Amino acid sequence: MDLGLKGRVAIVAAASKGLGRAVAAELGREGAQVAICARNAADLERAASSIRQATGNAIFWQALDVTDAARVQQFVDAVEKRFGRVDICVTNAGGPPAKTFLEISLEEWRAAVELTLLSAVYFAREVLPRMRKNKWGRLVTITSMAVKQPIDGLLLSNSIRAAVTGLARTLANEFGKDGITVNNVCPGYTLTERLDELAEKQARDASVPREKIFERWTSQIPLGRLARPEEFAALVTFLVSERASYINGTSITVDGGWVRSLL
Ligand code: NAP
Repeated sequence: MDLGLKGRVAIVAAASKGLGRAVAAELGREGAQVAICARNAADLERAASSIRQATGNAIFWQALDVTDAARVQQFVDAVEKRFGRVDICVTNAGGPPAKTFLEISLEEWRAAVELTLLSAVYFAREVLPRMRKNKWGRLVTITSMAVKQPIDGLLLSNSIRAAVTGLARTLANEFGKDGITVNNVCPGYTLTERLDELAEKQARDASVPREKIFERWTSQIPLGRLARPEEFAALVTFLVSERASYINGTSITVDGGWVRSLL
């Protein structure tokens, strides 16, 4: 299937590692011109050079914090200057701290809203007017399976990602007539550094070896294994393609069947 991504310009936020990096690499393989950001420049440079080597395509990168609206604006401006336009944007950020209600300070609540919700707003504000001018665009928000079934111990994620889902669904309504689709993709347990950190924390809290945590997660998944980042990236790549032209306003899980709901 030709996804029609050759020459499309794609921004992938928070993409030096993990899910974001896998999405950037897959888009590069499909012939898109890709721009990535994250805070650590050395990690970004490594990611960009490995994607460049694998795909032969130029990768544009800038080190920035996605909670800084002014830096997000400068980044999107720079991508447009470099590649001529912006067709695709995948929003992403690090995960908020894994804590229960009484452990979370008000400062942590505010920081998590900045990281998880407002970072997506900052990118959407920059890219949607540009896509509207071109009468074509794809916006994908990365959230979590927690938007369909809350995960114990991840209160900030369970609460604030629901707001991102509401944002994406409403943007889908507002921008559909401009040829822009907006969808939300919800990863399940996927083998990245974030998952290692969560396993370490849960193992410490429960005084068990981290392998026990991985076993517990795996036992809850009908497919009986954790996901590889590439399996998540495959769905995002399809959703931002020409071929997904009538998929709009959805939240799709890539969780091996972990969420037990019917829809
Ligand atoms: P990861 O492996 O820890 O990678 C996170 C990426 O985001 C890194 O490139 C990191 O680079 C960048 N980043 C973090 N904070 C940033 C910030 N403030 N500004 C710019 N870049 C930032 O995480 P992941 O597993 O790919 O997860 C991505 C998102 O999906 C997270 O929100 C996570 O909670 C969520 N999620 C993951 C899973 C899973 O199983 N992996 C499941 C459900 C949901 P720098 O540190 O250099 O900035």
